[in-house]
Amino acid sequence: MRRVSILGATGSIGQNTIDLIARTPDEYDVVALTGAGNIGQLAADARRLRAKLAVTAHEDRLDDLRDALAGTGIEAAAGQTAIIEAGARPADWVMSAIVGSAGLAPGLAALEQGATLALANKESLVCAGSLVKETAQRHGGTILPVDSEHSAVFQALAGEEMSKVERIIITASGGAFRDWPLDRLANASVEEASSHPNWDMGQRITIDSASMFNKSLEVIETHEFFGIAPEKIEVVVHPESMVHALVGFEDGALMAHLGAPDMRHAIGYALHWPERRALPVERLDLVALGRLSFREPDPARYPALGLAWVVMRRGGLCGAAFNAAKERALDHFIARRLRFPSMAAVVEAVLDRFETESGLIDAQMTLDNVMQTDHVARQWVDEEVKNWAG
Ligand code: NAD
Ligand code: MG
Repeated sequence: MRRVSILGATGSIGQNTIDLIARTPDEYDVVALTGAGNIGQLAADARRLRAKLAVTAHEDRLDDLRDALAGTGIEAAAGQTAIIEAGARPADWVMSAIVGSAGLAPGLAALEQGATLALANKESLVCAGSLVKETAQRHGGTILPVDSEHSAVFQALAGEEMSKVERIIITASGGAFRDWPLDRLANASVEEASSHPNWDMGQRITIDSASMFNKSLEVIETHEFFGIAPEKIEVVVHPESMVHALVGFEDGALMAHLGAPDMRHAIGYALHWPERRALPVERLDLVALGRLSFREPDPARYPALGLAWVVMRRGGLCGAAFNAAKERALDHFIARRLRFPSMAAVVEAVLDRFETESGLIDAQMTLDNVMQTDHVARQWVDEEVKNWAG
């Protein structure tokens, strides 16, 4: 039996992970499931999978969780510290699927106990790439990519040498506003930004797909995960979302990974790795598809994308500042205090301030410094928003 935990079990990635695990429950010993406000879902899944521990991030919901688990013998806990402790519970495989920088510390805890960390939480690598990688190395933990593009690259690289890689191309759907006239973006609503043309995902990553902040995080994730130079990473808009990524080798060969847009592929690959197993995903019918198209991302439509290279050039804690600023700008957009195109402008202003004012630009990458950077960047977004609101 493999001991598995799912951090962020109630979310989109978490539920897809549970869908796979629940198909062969005898193979898995479920150690911990975590969620936030969705207590009913968390408790139902903990019961169904016979988890040992269920944790909600909301401290004030502990009694509700206890009530929902009454008579099951499943341990209930609440709060951020309890979530980190869930990550630290000995397990062989841990899914990191909390959204945002809140996923960093629990993921580090999982690596510290030597688990294989299936990393959907791209924010971990963006905020603290070297810390995450060093933690894995020091404790014998393994990190596997779950983002579809990075899983695709990982698969295309199997048996290959990184030194022969000339470039990595990751694809972007272009998001909800791919074909909108540019002058309409200023009035784009939260609802409009929350509908993705191809993927069914959590709300935050869906809006980040429309702005390409998500792709921006993924470019940095590619740089951190595969150790490839920023100038060797390319992004192409591919509206069909069938090709997830391509790896270009020095002989000119491009190895592409294709598959239906279903996260259970990347999750399943990380779950069964190094084996490949049958997965319940749609098989592509190329003739029915007919054609695949690719185009250049327009910087005027996606100003957030270019910020990835600014962040990679500056390095260090800039990734943490960038991610936190992006998360907070998104909070303001969702709360209708900031217009859609202003998110990128605010984040860029915060990145500039971070370089000149924070005193953290050359600080060591420790969890404390990452969290302090995260805090400062969010505060600055709150200040900057006043200049951009309306
Ligand atoms: P989601 O919003 O659907 O789920 C997020 C999960 O995190 C939920 O279980 C929620 O309860 C929990 N959570 C939220 N705030 C928390 C906090 N402060 N502390 C602890 N737990 C908290 O998000 P999602 O779409 O499943 O995405 C999860 C992660 O996977 C993100 O990092 C996202 O970028 C990444 N990802 C998602 C997809 C996708 O298809 N959804 C694809 C690639 C990568
Ligand atoms: Mg992705």
